[in-house]
Amino acid sequence: MAYDDQNIFAKILRGEIPCNKVYEDEYALAFHDIAPQAPVHVLVIPKGSYVSMADFSATGSPDEIAGYFRAIGIVARQLGLDEPGYRLIANHGRDAHQEVPHLHFHIFGGRSMKGMVPKPAES
Ligand code: 5GP
Repeated sequence: MAYDDQNIFAKILRGEIPCNKVYEDEYALAFHDIAPQAPVHVLVIPKGSYVSMADFSATGSPDEIAGYFRAIGIVARQLGLDEPGYRLIANHGRDAHQEVPHLHFHIFGGRSMKGMVPKPAES
């Protein structure tokens, strides 16, 4: 799948659309999800143009991959989630119902999250 530079997170990265930023460095930007599904729901995106883990893991540079994953850990720590815990989710493609075609990890925290995988979707 080709990268669509008109996707909403590309616009956020370019500053064309505002976000509630929590962290930024050379490799990543993190901001609060617009429709939070947990008391803490933050999205961490790489600065490079990657649709999902499929292309990021295949073509991301070692520096980009290391920088991005380090940023996810930093953000979770800065949110105070290291001790109580948190969940990471990155959706890729149709079965995972990925909505925004720019790689993002969701960080969920602030409550207990029992159950690993959601039930089958109706559509
Ligand atoms: P996905 O299903 O692609 O893994 O998740 C996309 C996430 O992006 C959803 O949780 C959705 O609420 C969030 N989202 C969609 N549009 C915006 C936006 O304009 N700003 C922010 N902050 N989050 C968004």
